[in-house]
Amino acid sequence: MRLRNVKNADVILESSKYYLKEPNLYKGNFDRLFGNKNNIMLEVGMGKGDFLIGMAEMHPELNFIGVEKYESVLVRALQKLENKKLNNVYVISKDAIKLNEIFDNEIDTIFLNFSDPWPKKKHYKRRLTYRDFLSVYEKCFKSDSHIILKTDNDGLFESSLVELSNFGYVFDQISLDLWGSGLENIKTEYESKFGNQGFKIKYLNAFKKNR
Ligand code: SAM
Repeated sequence: MRLRNVKNADVILESSKYYLKEPNLYKGNFDRLFGNKNNIMLEVGMGKGDFLIGMAEMHPELNFIGVEKYESVLVRALQKLENKKLNNVYVISKDAIKLNEIFDNEIDTIFLNFSDPWPKKKHYKRRLTYRDFLSVYEKCFKSDSHIILKTDNDGLFESSLVELSNFGYVFDQISLDLWGSGLENIKTEYESKFGNQGFKIKYLNAFKKNR
């Protein structure tokens, strides 16, 4: 989707108090931006923001940052945020592989929701749980590493289990049917779409002790 296809996209990006145009300015100091030392939760590949906004509303005791590669997509989240009164959420545009340019040992949890599955064998290195991405996330985490992932895609789920495990993560929870599990859950746009078509939502909660 091109930016010019979204009405007033430039104006929204320019005027939204939730959009951080130059997030690297806050590197190492995101707690000052939020004005507190609450845990910072990152959603990588946030899309149009249903999960990010729902979580920020449900958990005022936590801080949230949504990361999305394309401004044309995240502008939809900014539209949804427009009439909200939240002080615990920001949105940035960045490729996940460069997150260490923005965060320096200050993130508590990373959410990966319905990341692109890249099913072709030659594209597996693009998956957001490929080891190169895990190495980048490592520089962002405050102390222990903590990743929570949801997907409808079996291939992505299986390769994520393997990559995370090989990287030293252990699994606190795994569900092959999140909706039937009784776990607290805020749905994403893709989750609603595929879950309502009958696809089972897979979920994992992975930790790695670093210090
Ligand atoms: N998380 C949302 C959901 O569940 O509805 C969106 C899922 S969509 C399949 C994947 C999103 O990840 C897209 O919005 C895409 O632009 C974004 N994305 C893909 N690769 C990315 C990357 N390397 N860095 C940041 N965002 C990325």
